[in-house]
Amino acid sequence: MDECHSPRELSSKETEEEAEDPAEAVKGSLSRAQSTQAINSVGIPAGEDCLKRVSSEPLLSAREKGVLLKRKLSLLEQDVVVNEDGRNKLKKQGENPSEVCMFSFAYGDIPEELIDVSDFECSLCMRLFFEPVTTPCGHSFCKNCLERCLDHAPYCPLCKESLKEYLADRRYCVTQLLEELIVKYLPDELSERKKIYDEETAELSHLTKNVPIFVCTMAYPTVPCPLHVFEPRYRLMIRRSIQTGTKQFGMCVSDTQNSFADYGCMLQIRNVHFLPDGRSVVDTVGGKRFRVLKRGMKDGYCTADIEYLEDVTVENEDEVKSLRELHDLVYSQACSWFQNLRDRFRSQILQHFGSMPEREENLQATPNGPAWCWWLLAVLPVDPRYQLSVLSMKSLEERLTKIQHILTYFSRDQSK
Ligand SMILES: [Zn+2]
Ligand SMILES: [Zn+2]
Repeated sequence: MDECHSPRELSSKETEEEAEDPAEAVKGSLSRAQSTQAINSVGIPAGEDCLKRVSSEPLLSAREKGVLLKRKLSLLEQDVVVNEDGRNKLKKQGENPSEVCMFSFAYGDIPEELIDVSDFECSLCMRLFFEPVTTPCGHSFCKNCLERCLDHAPYCPLCKESLKEYLADRRYCVTQLLEELIVKYLPDELSERKKIYDEETAELSHLTKNVPIFVCTMAYPTVPCPLHVFEPRYRLMIRRSIQTGTKQFGMCVSDTQNSFADYGCMLQIRNVHFLPDGRSVVDTVGGKRFRVLKRGMKDGYCTADIEYLEDVTVENEDEVKSLRELHDLVYSQACSWFQNLRDRFRSQILQHFGSMPEREENLQATPNGPAWCWWLLAVLPVDPRYQLSVLSMKSLEERLTKIQHILTYFSRDQSK
């Protein structure tokens, strides 16, 4: 089972199989025996294990569920009373979503003693409703709570009715009636609830502390990384990074000892395409590189405290000159390697990664150096451990030298 597919990972595997000999040569020479596949397969049991251990679905026993169901039914009964009092003919909540969404507070005041805060509690988080939504089966939950349940299965968490269509719709229209009742009758509880929500959001927005980590594939600065997201924990992670507005998360390859590697690359979400069953295809591009300082866990996915990596700037004139010479040499080597690839490989690479970035005038313009280096690393079928060591380098000169090494092996094979 593949934990998550990076479409380009599949392609690099293909390339690796086809270009068996040069890949072996590089691996052999670098004494790194493990292949892409091997690293991925050893990573899987760890992934499965943490998925089982930390399920993000709220755990309720059958008895608790029964109690909650009763409570929800009593809330519905009360709604009917409220409606009669107000001479406002509102059907069972959610029966007609547009009607519910349009509902405005047209009826008179409700006696305070009839308002019980527990009737406005979400049965999933046991807290006051926040952005309450109502399913077609008439059950209300916080929007975020319901979405987390639907990450696991498209059924109502209370009555188990199918919510496949509701999920495919992705509208999650806030139930105006509930929201207005809470605003009017429970303002203190609401502001307390809002405070907690804001604190949680702030906590999830840190970009150096407890940063969400997607453990899947190698990512590089400026290189696009399309992801197929289907695991519940990653659906939650992607949703959160959109909700908080950071639109970012870290990407690391798995590691047998530490669950994920010591170095990774931030990915910026450019676009998310949701499929009707809740899976999604997320279009991302690589940003800053980072080093992992501390590992953690949040609702089933990995997190890390990180520090960002930047290339050390070369100031000395002579050094800048020799760096430029080395750069130009390796760049032309890379171009000729790419041009000499068999047509099939080349078009595969172009399809997945786009064309090779152009030579840059200012080599040290960004903390990651020239983009073409990263593009090349992404398309070269070499051992991820080797790629990882290049990712971690803070010296452009060192990086270029390593790339030159790899290219020499591959080009040697091409000229045979
Ligand atoms: Zn809730
Ligand atoms: Zn239901």
